[in-house]
Amino acid sequence: IPALKIENLSKVYGNDFEALKGISLEVEQGDFFALLGPNGAGKSTTIGIVCSLVSKSGGSVHVHGVDIDEDFPAAKKFIGIVPQEFNFNQFEKTFDILVNQGGYYGLPNALARERAEKYLKALGLWDKRDTQSRMLSGGMKRRLMIARALVHEPKLLILDEPTAGVDIEMRRSMWDFLQTINAQGTTIILTTHYLEEAEALCRNIAIINHGNIVENTSIRDLLKQL
Ligand code: ADP
Ligand code: ADP
Repeated sequence: IPALKIENLSKVYGNDFEALKGISLEVEQGDFFALLGPNGAGKSTTIGIVCSLVSKSGGSVHVHGVDIDEDFPAAKKFIGIVPQEFNFNQFEKTFDILVNQGGYYGLPNALARERAEKYLKALGLWDKRDTQSRMLSGGMKRRLMIARALVHEPKLLILDEPTAGVDIEMRRSMWDFLQTINAQGTTIILTTHYLEEAEALCRNIAIINHGNIVENTSIRDLLKQL
């Protein structure tokens, strides 16, 4: 079963703006997949629909074989999402943010606390466990979002422009971290507008422009064409 299967997905904003014009793509379990495209191409809309943050106008989405229209709660358990914008409770401490996220996914409190510790440590934030999220630097907030997305140990991690605005050193360490969890079996999909990022990390790629998939291939074959 594919980790993600999108068929003929469309999105119309307002009366007639077609942000997605019937796109289809499949991401295999274990893949490291890039959705590459310029600003405004439809990347965030696609991800938003997969996570049910955005309604779709047509088509279907299956996550590990589960139709999101039929059973979103079941599909949601498979997905961890790292959005582009910081959406934390600014006054909550980082540890509590992760514990609450675990609760949101139905983890017993003891397990949620264990996972909060595990992922704060994994992302280098353990010494910030009692810090309110508003006090963190931009790079730390981004790492906190990744930690939060992993607390329920999803099979599929989706990141929307994870390294936009991140300095080079931080980008490298985030790349290393993502490669490690991919090697441990987590399927990863990221959106990016940097080909170099897709090239450095991903196995397969779909290129989206003006709401259409214009290329869907392996990175290796794409680079041969250039
Ligand atoms: P990307 O993530 O590739 O930058 P988006 O999916 O955010 O692209 O946006 C695709 C297109 O849809 C853009 O032209 C954007 O302006 C438009 N769009 C996104 N969100 C909305 C919205 N809520 N209402 C109207 N248009 C939107
Ligand atoms: P509901 O879907 O029940 O209305 P909320 O949207 O208020 O819930 O969010 C509940 C929990 O999910 C909060 O702990 C919040 O931190 C977390 N959350 C909300 N949006 C996201 C997101 N995009 N990615 C990860 N966690 C999120």
